[in-house]
Amino acid sequence: MREVLKKMFCPMSPEQEKGYALFCSRRILKYNGYFLYMILVIQIYNIGYALLYTGGRLHTTASRVYFTMYLILLLATVAGIFLIRYIKKNSAAHEIQALLFQKIFAVFLLLWSAGITIYDQRVSKNISVYLIAALTIAVIVYFTPLQTVILYGSLLILMLVMLPVLQREPVDNYGSYVNIIIMTAMAVFICIYRYFLERQRYLDQETIVEQNRLLLDHATRDALTRLRNRRFLEENIEELYRQCVIENSYMTIMMIDIDHFKRYNDSYGHQQGDECLRRVAWRLEQELDQESEYMIRYGGEEFLYIGIGIDKNSALEKGKLFNQVIRDLVIGFFDEDSRRITVSVGIYSGCPAQGLPWESYISHADQALYQAKNTGRDKCVMIEEG
Ligand code: GH3
Ligand code: MG
Ligand code: MG
Repeated sequence: MREVLKKMFCPMSPEQEKGYALFCSRRILKYNGYFLYMILVIQIYNIGYALLYTGGRLHTTASRVYFTMYLILLLATVAGIFLIRYIKKNSAAHEIQALLFQKIFAVFLLLWSAGITIYDQRVSKNISVYLIAALTIAVIVYFTPLQTVILYGSLLILMLVMLPVLQREPVDNYGSYVNIIIMTAMAVFICIYRYFLERQRYLDQETIVEQNRLLLDHATRDALTRLRNRRFLEENIEELYRQCVIENSYMTIMMIDIDHFKRYNDSYGHQQGDECLRRVAWRLEQELDQESEYMIRYGGEEFLYIGIGIDKNSALEKGKLFNQVIRDLVIGFFDEDSRRITVSVGIYSGCPAQGLPWESYISHADQALYQAKNTGRDKCVMIEEG
């Protein structure tokens, strides 16, 4: 029951509320232009009709009142169209304001319709303008339930009180009152129904995006060590390389390989070998800056490091640090068991803007690793140029 209620009322965290407001604003910017153009066309037609009907003279008070009202709405609509275009083109930072502007315009349009409908009572006793506006706004605008009740409640009182005020002779308004009450109730229902529907839609969409993110994350991680895998490397290396070219920054690649791991496996068994891999991976990852450094399980007991913005000096320092932390890492499973392991590190560091392709960064780091292995292991070697 609690779950059902929770789902029904779609509660959101402050962060989600912000995201939802942006979601609404973007849809307003995308679709509300059409609605405004529709109003614009209707007002141009109305103004043209008023001028034609009076031969351009607007000699009656009624024609002048209608003409002025149409003109006011026309100008407000043009302003709205320009505002939407401006926000779309120049002001991404203000796009969230579209939600507020939409509500202001909707209140204005409802008041305008109420005004013209009250004046209509003098001329034609027609309440359709207000009814159409009330329903249309309910379908389009993102009012909250509280805003809906206050707005439509006030308008209902205004309409019921003001309807007979401009009528010239006593008229039986019973039918109009009933229609206004029913349509206002319908508009309130639509507004509130849409409010929950839209929020639910946003939350569903958010869940899908999050699930996709988790799936992708899962697919780009190695099952044993939870480090990034080869797929991650293949999908991201070009982008990272391009980022360095654009920012004219350094890129460092390291190949890190566990020393004599075959011997370790042979001595302790494959399962303990796996546990050793997990611990080495976990320890290496602790030394990374999450924003600019990546550790990838490249193959068996081989790891590939990518450092964005890491120059030669920092690279050498980092390589030595990797050697040190693994040298200090106790792999043993109980207190007396202080077995340890070492790694060899091959480093290549350069500026991608100078044109050397990223594949060469990896092969140079591989050559450096080969040198580290051949000159005693448990060390890092940096290749200086290609
Ligand atoms: P070197 O210092 O020259 O790198 O010697 P090494 O013994 O580490 O290198 P070699 O390439 O001869 O052996 C790598 C070993 O790593 C062989 C393989 O059984 C083991 N290995 C690769 N992947 C895994 C794994 O996922 N789990 C375990 N337990 N062992 C693995
Ligand atoms: Mg090895
Ligand atoms: Mg190896």
